[in-house]
Amino acid sequence: MKHVKRNILLNPGPATTTDSVKWAQVVPDICPREADFGNVMKFISNELTAIVANQNQYSTILFGGSGTAAVESILSSVIDTNDTVLIIDNGAYGKRMCEIAKVYGLNTVIYHSPLDDGIDLGALETVIRECDKKITHLAVVHHETTTGLLNDIEAIGSICKKYDLEMIVDAMSSFAAIPIDMTKMNIHYLAASSNKNIQGMAGVSFVIANTHSLELSKDLHQKNYYLHLYSQYDYFSKTSQLRFTPPVQTLYALKQAIIELKQEGMKERYNRYSESWNTLIKGISKLGLRFMIPKKHHSKLITAIYEPECSKFDFNDMHDYFYRRNFTIYPGKLNQFDTFRIANIGEITCKDINVFLSLLESYLQSIGYVAKK
Ligand SMILES: *Cc1c(COP(=O)(O)O)cnc(C)c1O
Repeated sequence: MKHVKRNILLNPGPATTTDSVKWAQVVPDICPREADFGNVMKFISNELTAIVANQNQYSTILFGGSGTAAVESILSSVIDTNDTVLIIDNGAYGKRMCEIAKVYGLNTVIYHSPLDDGIDLGALETVIRECDKKITHLAVVHHETTTGLLNDIEAIGSICKKYDLEMIVDAMSSFAAIPIDMTKMNIHYLAASSNKNIQGMAGVSFVIANTHSLELSKDLHQKNYYLHLYSQYDYFSKTSQLRFTPPVQTLYALKQAIIELKQEGMKERYNRYSESWNTLIKGISKLGLRFMIPKKHHSKLITAIYEPECSKFDFNDMHDYFYRRNFTIYPGKLNQFDTFRIANIGEITCKDINVFLSLLESYLQSIGYVAKK
């Protein structure tokens, strides 16, 4: 296999991929309406479901689009005119769900929670209980990619069960690394995409749905077209095709990425990521830098690091310094905190993180940064 130049992506997805995933895209031209291609998508859909749920009770619905398409599909397809969704907002991706809900005119209750600490579950429960509207759905981001904050979806799922709410989880940046059990956690709809911990290419997003709940959404007032979840599900279950042209090559890469995920093992993958994270945290602490989220609530997948206190520090400068050396780093996403972000997902190991750390040390020296003791 021809080697492709290796860039180390420390941005939160698309992540660094293997050469075999890259090359899986180079295939003979095929019309996606052929049965051969339908089988590729059936394989993908079944395997994705199996990562988090039982295939007899849950189904995966594929879309061409980035991850936001899957989140938008759920919110705009399963919440009826008289329903009310409570959205937990503790980062940029929670906020994005609120923006989507607003566009579709959904009855929405927003539960704001601190960006850098766990959710107060007691207070959340009080809001659900005492709200003047009857809340029917709850939407939460599993892993806030803004900061690295991991929300306790199992505990939130228990609350949903108690109050009979359908639970919607944006698991974009946790899926395929952090274990999720949709039945046990009481999750009805989950959104994820091809290009984060699955280590595939960007362009496929998907919803994993409790099939019974999904069947019931069939008769709701239809607010969308391309993203209509039930239609996409129904068509695929009858034809093994997507309603509209799928991203053919991205799907071939996704199939290969799933095979490689199974070969590595999800637990082993998360162990590899965690080892990279431990290396990262030790290294930046040695350099006198601090990170935002307490360890107890940390995903170990992405870290928001406070910018060094140094007058010459400039994120774009630092970005370019790294980019010239084949490392891509990422700015923060929170206006009120000056952070930058380092993700440790994708086909990288703690060796790459060690190279990153020594480059970081050189960069900081070059701007005259002195670590505070
Ligand atoms: C990446 C991500 C998304 C999707 O972003 P796209 O740019 O549409 O791929 C949604 N939610 C979370 C938590 C994410 O990390």
